[in-house]
Amino acid sequence: MRILVTGGAGFIPSHLCERLVEQGHDVVGVDNFVTGHHRNLARLLTLPRFSFVEADVTKELPVEGRFDRIYHMASPASPIDYVQLPFETLYCGSDATRIALDRCRKDGARFFLASTSEVYGDPLVHPQPETYWGNVNSIGPRSVYDEAKRFAEAVTMAYHRYHGVETRIVRIFNTYGPRMRENDGRVMPAFISQALRRQPLTVFGDGLQTRSFCFVDDNVRGLMSLMESDLTEPCNIGNPHEMTMLQLAEYINMYTGNTAGIVHKPLPTDDPLQRKPIIDRARNTFGWEPHVSFEEGVERTVGYFRELIEL
Ligand code: UDP
Repeated sequence: MRILVTGGAGFIPSHLCERLVEQGHDVVGVDNFVTGHHRNLARLLTLPRFSFVEADVTKELPVEGRFDRIYHMASPASPIDYVQLPFETLYCGSDATRIALDRCRKDGARFFLASTSEVYGDPLVHPQPETYWGNVNSIGPRSVYDEAKRFAEAVTMAYHRYHGVETRIVRIFNTYGPRMRENDGRVMPAFISQALRRQPLTVFGDGLQTRSFCFVDDNVRGLMSLMESDLTEPCNIGNPHEMTMLQLAEYINMYTGNTAGIVHKPLPTDDPLQRKPIIDRARNTFGWEPHVSFEEGVERTVGYFRELIEL
């Protein structure tokens, strides 16, 4: 197939592009490097079935020819990114989603929306099934991301219902692995780079808030399986292995041999208290579940950051 991936130079999409090319597809990545990085394309650009177009997908998709699939992955995705890039974040969820959907309608392509566990906000139901409608502050600092993704889900379903476009919606839970930006502010790259630099890890608040971390290889396998499934309803993809940020900090310090300990910093506004996916829908519909253990995932991610930081 011929497949377009928006945000192709980003963390998850660059891995996705590689897997798609390995499966024999022709893949075009589109990115404007607002949060994506040239480094993520290094291997991809050596593969003949991959090509890259630099463009702002909130304005246009300047790529010729018909596509069979479009994965709309482009968006700032870290809390500090979307506070610094509020309009880019809003337009990735709104304008860029509409532009990609229009292109799918024209090409007869199947559309895939990268949505997020953030549509559940600070969830009052725990763990979170897809049937939960969420608890989102529509005017808080995270709203530019949460509400844009909620709009993106709505416009995707509208194109499906009213225009008959084939659509898929994934709700991605916290994902980590090689190619995250060291300074993107998310907890995994923050803790790992601090530990490798022998600095104390910055735990926000009391550190008792929880997250559930999925390794990127498992995530990408889930995304591709969902795309080729028949599921039109939104689908959680994440690893139900839940832990507190204090537990995460302790493990990273122990694994890296960092003795600098932790420091507490203020908790960001509207930081969700807990998050854990129910993945029965993915499991029962297309047989997906995560395989990479937390220990292995951390080992591979620390290996990447060790090289990046050149310590
Ligand atoms: N966090 C932290 N220290 C950091 C960065 C994040 O304690 O240096 C916490 C943050 O407050 C949140 C959790 O780690 O409770 C996950 O944050 P992240 O930004 O990775 O993703 P989120 O799930 O909040 O979108």
